[in-house]
Amino acid sequence: MNLARFPRLRFGHFPTPLEPMRRLSERLGGPRLWIKRDDCTGLSTGGNKTRKLEYLMADALARKADTIVTQGATQSNHARQTAAIAAKLGLACHILLEDRTGYDDAEYTLNGNVLLDRLHGASVSKRPGGADMNVEMAALAETLTAEGRTPYVIPGGGSNPIGALGYVNAALELTYQAGEQGLDIGHVVHATGSAGTQAGLVTGLKAINAGIPVLGIGVRAPKPQQEENVFALARATAERMGLDGVVERSDVVANCDYVGQGYGIPTAGMVAAVKLLAETEGILLDPVYSGKGMAGLIDQIERGYFEKDSDVVFIHTGGAAALFGYPNAFDLPGYVA
Ligand SMILES: *Cc1c(COP(=O)(O)O)cnc(C)c1O
Repeated sequence: MNLARFPRLRFGHFPTPLEPMRRLSERLGGPRLWIKRDDCTGLSTGGNKTRKLEYLMADALARKADTIVTQGATQSNHARQTAAIAAKLGLACHILLEDRTGYDDAEYTLNGNVLLDRLHGASVSKRPGGADMNVEMAALAETLTAEGRTPYVIPGGGSNPIGALGYVNAALELTYQAGEQGLDIGHVVHATGSAGTQAGLVTGLKAINAGIPVLGIGVRAPKPQQEENVFALARATAERMGLDGVVERSDVVANCDYVGQGYGIPTAGMVAAVKLLAETEGILLDPVYSGKGMAGLIDQIERGYFEKDSDVVFIHTGGAAALFGYPNAFDLPGYVA
């Protein structure tokens, strides 16, 4: 495997730290919990999309693009990181936001990631929930082309075989760090959505025969569909790297029991997990992804999914900017008189 063959720009802060969560591990009674800080990738409050965008933006520049088109949910972290990187590269950026939740309060529709999209100078336009966002992006790209622009369309979450390379690389980074820090990783756990993160991780870990299983905690699709999405992308990513067949269907495991009522809709488990991490570790999770991912990790610890005497790594995929789109989800006490 030679990742250096693939064009990559460098704007992330790598390697991201791998840190112990001592108070949380103690609170939950083991296993030893670690956190890989992909919320600290740098630009515009960071997050997991930065790793993918290092490869995607290199491809955009190779194709002489002057305009980036992408899409996501209203509080999309992917859209925000794309807007920041487009700004840094001097590219125009058009973002289409799908209203997946139906929330119409000003915090959700204008604060958090939406505020940051606009600060980075992206043009933002809304689409109704259930719209075919790939069709919407293609239509916009056609209009831009007719206007003489050269658009580059990035799929939702940056999840295609180019973007997933970012998480193949993260798998190498993580296993190297684990070796340096003396961890014997029993499991890697993270929130899975558009599938690129898990697909890249699984591909990278299998390519080096790491023997480390990944558990994705779903935030949207039911388990069979989520696992199929991850598997299809992992297979395509491996193929792109000349590693055909390295990922088997059984390597892809997602637990989608923590979605609740739907994508972007708070759950009691998410609220408890966000508060617990804030109060025990001083770490900010997010309401849509890492909060539900952590809720899944905590519940699976309680159900005995992990060996007590093992190292479990949670990948913090970022997203805390979305907290400001959900200020009323946490039922916090008022000021003390
Ligand atoms: C996009 C995102 C994820 C999910 O990653 P995918 O590659 O889309 O599966 C997880 N956490 C956060 C904070 C995200 O923004």
